[in-house]
Amino acid sequence: MSMEKNVDEILQNIKEACEKSNRSQDEITLIAVTKTVDVDAMIEARKLDLKNFGENKPQELVRKFDFFDEEIRWHMIGHLQRNKVKYIIDKVELIHSLDNMKLAEEIQKQSVKHDKVMDVLIEINIGNEISKHGISPDELFDFVDKVKELKNIRIKGLMTVAPYMIDAEEVRPYMKKMKSLFDQLKAIEGDCIDTLSMGMSNDYKIAIEEGATMVRIGSSIFGERIY
Ligand SMILES: *Cc1c(COP(=O)(O)O)cnc(C)c1O
Repeated sequence: MSMEKNVDEILQNIKEACEKSNRSQDEITLIAVTKTVDVDAMIEARKLDLKNFGENKPQELVRKFDFFDEEIRWHMIGHLQRNKVKYIIDKVELIHSLDNMKLAEEIQKQSVKHDKVMDVLIEINIGNEISKHGISPDELFDFVDKVKELKNIRIKGLMTVAPYMIDAEEVRPYMKKMKSLFDQLKAIEGDCIDTLSMGMSNDYKIAIEEGATMVRIGSSIFGERIY
């Protein structure tokens, strides 16, 4: 299938998931996950009006960055090492993967250097999987209290990579847990908490039905990744 058909199908699915859950489509941001995708394919995606790109490696993001105009919003969605923050701090709109204090301190330090306030999401390991990054739900509120002391970081919400299920319907309970944590965080911190990043190619429809505001989609747009 062509990329255009893929994107049309995804937009249609997003629309249906919104209708099913009584939400407005404007609430949903589609992030095209461009890791391993070459620049030519990304230019094609840009022409299809996809303006949010998600990368999981700082080096790759930096390499591709200059090929695109300023309207593109770049998202760091993968695990971020402290020593790499300096490469992306002035390029990304949102870091989705904050999950430890040392990283927060480095983001703070680099943000001060660039005289900016960095928007972040806190990554939650909602399935308590050993193989995954993210903090456990029990630690969330203590973690938020500590991060809040860092004035050049603004917490916008939560992100998760939910457990992979062959039957996507089985992820629904995890998505519900994320939404509940998100609502608790919003009740404490207020309306500045407005972003819930969850849902990938296999489960984005369910994620939207359960309250996601950002979905991160790679293979359903660009085809299976070749590493
Ligand atoms: C690769 C990746 C995605 C996209 O996965 P697909 O299954 O290709 O849609 C989303 N989020 C993160 C954090 C990723 O690393």
